[in-house]
Amino acid sequence: MQANSESEREFFKRIVSYIKLVKSFENSDLWNEAQELIPIEELNIKAAINSSVLESKGIDVDLADLLLKELLHWFKSEFFTWVDKPKCENCGKLPEDRGYVPPDDSEEIWGADRVEQYFCSSCNIFVRFPRYKHPKKLMETRRGRCGEWAICFTFICRVMGYDARFVCDWNDHVWTEIFSATQNRWLHCDSCENICDQPLIYEKGWKKQNNYIIAFSRDEIQDVTWRYTCDFNEVLKRRTLCREVWLCNIIVLLNDKLQKNAPAEYKKMLYHRRALELAEFLTPPKYDGEHYSGRNSGSLEWRLTRKETEVPEENAYEFKLCCQEIDHQHFHIKYDCASDKYVRISDNLAETGNWATYVFSYNNVFRKVEHDWNTAYLCRTEGSSKGLITWKFNFKDSGLIIRTLRATLNSTTFENGKVKWFISTDSELKFSKIYEAKDVVPLKTDEFRGSTNLTITAELVEGSGNQAWQHAQLFRQTLNSSEFPFEVEIFLDKQ
Ligand SMILES: [Zn+2]
Repeated sequence: MQANSESEREFFKRIVSYIKLVKSFENSDLWNEAQELIPIEELNIKAAINSSVLESKGIDVDLADLLLKELLHWFKSEFFTWVDKPKCENCGKLPEDRGYVPPDDSEEIWGADRVEQYFCSSCNIFVRFPRYKHPKKLMETRRGRCGEWAICFTFICRVMGYDARFVCDWNDHVWTEIFSATQNRWLHCDSCENICDQPLIYEKGWKKQNNYIIAFSRDEIQDVTWRYTCDFNEVLKRRTLCREVWLCNIIVLLNDKLQKNAPAEYKKMLYHRRALELAEFLTPPKYDGEHYSGRNSGSLEWRLTRKETEVPEENAYEFKLCCQEIDHQHFHIKYDCASDKYVRISDNLAETGNWATYVFSYNNVFRKVEHDWNTAYLCRTEGSSKGLITWKFNFKDSGLIIRTLRATLNSTTFENGKVKWFISTDSELKFSKIYEAKDVVPLKTDEFRGSTNLTITAELVEGSGNQAWQHAQLFRQTLNSSEFPFEVEIFLDKQ
């Protein structure tokens, strides 16, 4: 069926360009290069730890789905950077917007059909920001807006062996879908937001007026609009760019072409999977009034399935004394945010765990690495107003009581961001104390003398503007620093 309007021709061109894009993901040389950059082993270990935590709570989750969660988190917190405006390479200031310029050859070969141009009036130089679309280049630049994020993340999912789709919302957003083999369905994944399986976030959270949302992979194209809206009738009214029957024909035709050389068995699997997905689209997804936050919330929420509860962001880990520590009546742990490792002095646990491994609980906190500024720190997730992180020391069964607490609790604040520390014990003393950040570097106190447990909590609040979440930081240090901005040392007595 021929396109019969300029609008349908445009629509078709756009579809073809995304088919070309996802083809660029299928390159085994590139996969080998990418595997070098992904901490695959580390992510697998984290997923396995989460899996055993969930298992102990009676929740059965597939390892591949948990690994996807780790991949999303790593991608956002460590690998890729969001760029609103590129900084001047010379002075680091934000330059003025000067519109678009055509790409040069070195930019065009990496799919940059548009180049944003800026001017730094302090240095008198132009700053170019080519909008690259090729995964090879993006693995190198590791920055951009949702386009670059979705391209690079979808590519990385392919590298990791996931069945992945690049999803384009005609109304200006892109993301990824991953097929979960155990759940037998496609999972929505937005790498800019670090969210998974919250397909209604755009309609309910961002208040987007969906019309066409189309998914592209090596094997198929699918109109997935119906996964992302509760109101089929309203969406149908907005679908005016092409005839429905034309779009349906185009999709069938192109799928035949994409699957032309696929083995018969594989084609059969795709066919079944497709039928199942279309059945899912017969009824609108249920919206149970759950809260979706606005864009760039960076929420860490992960819904296992639509009905199950979120995985709590807690390990419930409690430090307990080992034999050697009991012998020496001395406990000492320190944390280095640059390498994201804890060191337990008196034990052979040296150099282990990441920041979250030994926390009792945390909420709206993550470790941020700023590669351009060569720093790392813990801070609030984007869009959250309060971050909490708690460590717990439980020496109840050791026969020892606390004498002196010595702690280094470094924090850094910007604007009006605030960090507060709460130190308490729930043994018979029921003592708790609030320390303002300025009072605690370093802290040495006998106030908890006689108790058998301690809870140390940091609260990150306030800050101003869009970057408020970044204005209260814990343990900020340069990446080559070998200091320990968090340290807890406890001297003990016999009961
Ligand atoms: Zn400059």
